[in-house]
Amino acid sequence: MRYSQMFLPTLKEIPSDAEVISHQLMLRAGMIRKLTSGVYSYLPMGYRVIRKVEQIIREEMNRAGAQEIFMPTVQPAELWKESGRWNFYGKELLRFRDRKDSECCLGPTHEEVVTDIVRNGVKSYRQLPQNLYQIQTKFRDEIRPRFGLMRCREFSMKDAYSFDIDTVNADLSYQKMFAAYNRIFERCGLKFRPVEADTGSIGGSYSHEFLVIADSGEDGMAYCEGCGYAANLEKAEIARPEEQAVDVSSFLTREEIHTPEVRTIEEVCAFLQVRPENVIKTLVFSADGVPVAVLVRGDEEVNEIKVKNYLGCDILEMAMDDMIQAAAGSPRGFVGPIGIKCRTLADYSLMNLTNMVVGANREDYHLKNVNFERDFKVAAFADLRVVRESDPCPRCAGGIHFARGVEVGHVFKLGTKYSKAMKAIYLDKNGKEQYMVMGCYGIGVGRTVAACVEQYHDDNGIIWPLAIAPFQVIITPVNMNDQDLAAAAENLYADLSSQGVEVILDDRDERAGVKFKDADLIGIPLRVTIGPKNLAAGNVEIKNRKSGEINILSVEEVKKFILGAIRQL
Ligand code: ATP
Ligand code: MG
Repeated sequence: MRYSQMFLPTLKEIPSDAEVISHQLMLRAGMIRKLTSGVYSYLPMGYRVIRKVEQIIREEMNRAGAQEIFMPTVQPAELWKESGRWNFYGKELLRFRDRKDSECCLGPTHEEVVTDIVRNGVKSYRQLPQNLYQIQTKFRDEIRPRFGLMRCREFSMKDAYSFDIDTVNADLSYQKMFAAYNRIFERCGLKFRPVEADTGSIGGSYSHEFLVIADSGEDGMAYCEGCGYAANLEKAEIARPEEQAVDVSSFLTREEIHTPEVRTIEEVCAFLQVRPENVIKTLVFSADGVPVAVLVRGDEEVNEIKVKNYLGCDILEMAMDDMIQAAAGSPRGFVGPIGIKCRTLADYSLMNLTNMVVGANREDYHLKNVNFERDFKVAAFADLRVVRESDPCPRCAGGIHFARGVEVGHVFKLGTKYSKAMKAIYLDKNGKEQYMVMGCYGIGVGRTVAACVEQYHDDNGIIWPLAIAPFQVIITPVNMNDQDLAAAAENLYADLSSQGVEVILDDRDERAGVKFKDADLIGIPLRVTIGPKNLAAGNVEIKNRKSGEINILSVEEVKKFILGAIRQL
């Protein structure tokens, strides 16, 4: 493509509404334009990258035995009512009525539609397994669309759905997708990590997220270099500590102390001259409307996702004042485990601790020297707190490290959640009806592109990995008015193009410095500069955008070099 003819509206200034670097650079490099909040058009440069990522995804999905389909964006409410998600899915589901007053939605995901297709098309175990995928537009009315293609309302997703006869086979389908995802993100040239994850609103029993490592990422991960354990911070486990023999003789006499207006852990510590590690924090939650007290050490934080998963409830919220008052007999700030009228769970951080400070369940009072068993019992000790970087690895007891990342893909074991609700049944070998066992697997195409820019850029612009670059090579004659330079550039351009290389010829009548700046901004991996001095010796200069490495080679050698690099993809 000739630069002079391209629709490539680059920007010099950083757009004011773009907070993260990928959003800024994708706007500046003329890749995308915002239509309205969370809704973007892909311009030629942006769309070429999107298509490349899609192509890698397609090849790997096909290789893994999945078959491509294409499902509609508009979906009827009936299917969502059948699955039970019409009411459960929040405001992200854009619901509307058509002219016949039928309720519809814009698909944020396609479990319902694909399950409907497969339940009507599969009768026998002989037709299973199946894995159907599409690359299609999703709409999620996100509360806070932000960061350009990272979190939009309308976005392109690859979603795949597997259907198996039983969980053993469903596990195999999951493993295949897991392996395919690793290949996809490797081929895109990304640094990433699959991490164990919570299953969220899609439901199901088990899942991994694929996080592209980037400091600006919205997700945190904890990982162990020793054994390879990696999990989203929301999910990262903490091992149960060894139980130590209790030395009852060390128990001190329990005391009630007047602590007027002393409510927070900091206030309690200051007032009683104790450390947060000696205080039990008691939080009351409402689990589907029922109060539950969760105890954690004063210097630790409760992880609500862990509590929710432990209880298996649908809605977990902090209890309102009236619920706290009813359970504890005291207001917030003075709640403690002794005599509280609700189920009480304690985090592992409290095991083996003695002579603790707790709320007295009496306004303006706390208790000192409180001990498990002597003073109160809990229903269970469990892993209920937020992990810390100083925690040991839950698998191998090595050290845990933290990193941030962007979730670009997510694989779920769904089990029979949808097949039961929607009666996706097949007949087994014995002619008996069985529920299909499902999995679902998503990749955000635009988010993958944005994550790539987060990972690979410098002060001058984007640095595309060769595999997904919009063009692989840019030829920059330093002066288009010099006939020899122009002719050499045209020849190389024609030659490389004819061999399938994706080349831009920067044929603009601009200063070399301007051309170099633009080439860097749009991030083309290889730049061939044709200047008078080198050309006189039959040479051109090739510069690697990523390493900055420059080589002066003959025209023939440069061609070989470029074709060699591309063949390796
Ligand atoms: P998040 O927690 O970031 O909202 P999610 O868990 O809701 O993501 P999934 O339902 O698993 O996402 O969707 C599969 C993939 O689609 C995600 O891994 C992500 O790459 C992409 N994706 C999800 N929501 C958006 C969005 N609003 N904008 C762009 N891509 C998205
Ligand atoms: Mg989401």
